[in-house]
Formats: sequence, structure tokens, C-alpha cells
Amino acid sequence: MDTFWGPDYAALRAEDPEIADVVAGELQRQRTGLQLIASENFTSPAVLAALGSTLTNKYAEGYPGRRYYGGCAEVDRAEELAVARAEELFGAAHANVQPHSGSAANMAAYAALVQPGDTVLAMDLPHGGHLTHGSKVNFSGKWFRTVGYRVRPDTELIDYDEVRELARAHRPALIICGATAYPRLIDFAAFRDIADEVGAYLMVDAAHFIGLVAGRAVPSPVPHADVVSCTTHKVLRGPRGGMILCREELAARIDKAVFPFTQGGPLMHAIAAKAVALREASLPAFQGYAHQVVRNSQALAAGLAAEGMRPVSGGTDTHLALVDLRDTGVTGCAAEERCDRARITLNKNAIPFDPEKPMTASGIRVGTAGATTQGMREAEMRQIAGLIATAVRADPATVAGAAVLRDVGTEVTELVRRFPAYPDGEMAG
Ligand SMILES: *Cc1c(COP(=O)(O)O)cnc(C)c1O
Repeated sequence: MDTFWGPDYAALRAEDPEIADVVAGELQRQRTGLQLIASENFTSPAVLAALGSTLTNKYAEGYPGRRYYGGCAEVDRAEELAVARAEELFGAAHANVQPHSGSAANMAAYAALVQPGDTVLAMDLPHGGHLTHGSKVNFSGKWFRTVGYRVRPDTELIDYDEVRELARAHRPALIICGATAYPRLIDFAAFRDIADEVGAYLMVDAAHFIGLVAGRAVPSPVPHADVVSCTTHKVLRGPRGGMILCREELAARIDKAVFPFTQGGPLMHAIAAKAVALREASLPAFQGYAHQVVRNSQALAAGLAAEGMRPVSGGTDTHLALVDLRDTGVTGCAAEERCDRARITLNKNAIPFDPEKPMTASGIRVGTAGATTQGMREAEMRQIAGLIATAVRADPATVAGAAVLRDVGTEVTELVRRFPAYPDGEMAG
């Protein structure tokens, strides 16, 4: 009964030492550096066990009870549990847990709500929007007419007056809010009101912050949105994947848009892992986690501000901060490289009205979902702010700068050793 045939790293080592080296090396990288990419986290061993299971072998096109293949009784239970847990946790009428990723969830949501050529109003990419919100190199920008709203230059908060004006002028069929690099709460009720005024659907892309919603650390978009799309691997701490929540009237359209319109067979191992993560996120401890994530990013943003690095919008209400580096004279690109040498992983990011090209960028984005999973708190965030500030100002082209980056790297290694990711994980070989 209780038999698993799970990851056997000794077998991987024996059969394919090159890939075994990658797996071991990546674990080592995650353990010995500081992971501040705002969209990353550390999944639990239970999530990893479900992901690395024989459920990956099963074809299950369709939905529980109506599959195109036999032998789906076991995987049906996994999907039913994932759906029920998602609906319960978020108070949603309907959940679809099949999207392979956040982008796949968004494509399905577009397919369910709009027709090619329709107008979509979404946040401009340089102001925090996602590729799937109308980038010219993405399906969303090629197949839809997208109009972008921005943040206000003075407050760096979403300009709701501009959103309303653009909505009135362009009569979009769909309005999207939710971003990749917006550190503040979004006024979902204001978006609902604007969508209602112009007869548009409202989709909230909660990819980044759905974990904070699960942990009751930020308000939920579910009561306001027609559709909420999200990922399961960011603050929510589940496997890499996507999910869609929607109103009952849209359930059939969303399901058809996911399968068969945009996807084939679902990844049943990932769906089982989503179920595990959704259960974890419903436990009281996850609420403590989510609130600590926000306190940590506030402490990190304040620490960086004290080091002369301005948080965009003055701070954060979420798990991430966007930081304007212009006062340091260092570009986002150079800062990312310098931090990388010091074992601090973060990303360069455009700031609103950025004078630099996106690949150079004037800012960096930092997130606290991973560090908080490791158990770090405000005191560590203050220390990390100092480490980032030191690394950003150290020029690796000089002997002194290179030495500083090595020293910061040593301090980072000592810090993360006190808060190990996967402390008991054993790698064979
Ligand atoms: C991360 C993200 C996505 C896409 O997620 P993937 O799983 O990388 O496809 C979509 N929308 C927003 C706002 C995101 O931040």
C-alpha cells in the first residue's frame, strides 16, 4: 500500500553523471547563495516527492470522470483534491489546475474571454506588466490589440484615472491587472468599477502574489475578478505551474480553453504536487509565513533605502521591492552581475520611466519569498541590505572591488549556512 518508487539519485548518478552533476550543482547553488529572485521559492520535500513520482507517466487528457484515456482513477483523485483545495482556500466557485505555467494559464484565459483582434487594456511592460500582457514578441501582443496603462510619475502607483480614461477611449473587451514588478497593493474594486463601466471582463493575473492571498497577507482579488490566473511556484511555494480561478458562469469556457484549446495532456505529477502545496498553504503556519514575507520585504526595502537605494513608490506592501539604483551610478545590469559574484541572486529590472534600455535597466528587483521559507527575519534582511549595497558599489574590474565581492560572498555563505534550504537533503554521489 504505502510503497513509493521515487527519486533515486544514486541511479541517476550511475546512469547519467552529467545530469547528476547538474542536479547536485543546482542544489549546492541554492544552498550556498542568497536567492532573492522575487518569483522563486523553495518547495517542500513533500511537493518534490509528488513531482518526482510515477504520476508523470499517466496520460489523462480531459477532466476527472471524463477522460480520453483509461486508468485515470488514481490521478483523478489528485486533480479532484487539487481543485477542491484551491476552491476552498481562495473561496473560488471554480478552479482549473491544469495550466502548465502562468503563461499557459493566461493564454487560456484570453482564449476563454476574448477573440483575436479584440482590445485588451493591461499594464505597460516597463511599468511592471508581464510578457503575456501585450508584449509584441508574445501571442498577446500579436493576436490582440493591447493598450497599456502606466504608473503615475509622482507616486509610482497605478494611475487609476488614466486606466479609466483609456478604458473609456478604447472600450477594451478585457482589462488585466496584476504585474511582475509592482510592489504595492492593487485596488481591485477600482478595476472592477472601470471594467463594469465599459462592459469589459476583468482578469487579475495574481501570478506573483497569490501565495500572499493564500496566507491572508494581502486582499484577495477573487471577489472582484471574472478570472484570476496565477502560478503555483512563486510565493505559493508549489511546483512550477499555473492555475485559473473563475466565476461559475465561466467555468465551462475556462475548462475548454485550457483543454483542448491550448493544452493536451495535463502534467499529473505536477497537479498532485499542486494539491500538496495547496494543502500546505491552507495551514495556519502558512499565514505566519506570508505575513513574515511582507515584513521581510519591508525591512529589506527600508534597509536598501538607508543605503541610498530608493525603493520605487517608497516601499512595498508585498513580497518584492523594486529599487532605483540611479543615485549609486550603477546600472541594474552591472548590479546584477556584481551581486552574482557575491553569491546574491537577484535580477536587474526596469523602473517606471526608465531612461535605460531594458537589458541595462536602472533598477533591481528583490523578493523575500525564498529567504523567508529558509527562516530569515527582519534582522537578516537588514544585514542583506548592507551586503547588497556593498556588492553593488564594488567594481569587479578593480583589485579592491574584486576583494570586496569575495568578502561579501563569504559573508553570504555564512549567513545562508545558518538558514539552510533543504537541510536534511542528501545527494548521492
Ligand atoms: C511569472 C508571471 C507569469 C508567468 O508565469 P510562467 O510560469 O513563467 O509562465 C504571468 N504573469 C505574471 C504577472 C507573472 O509574474
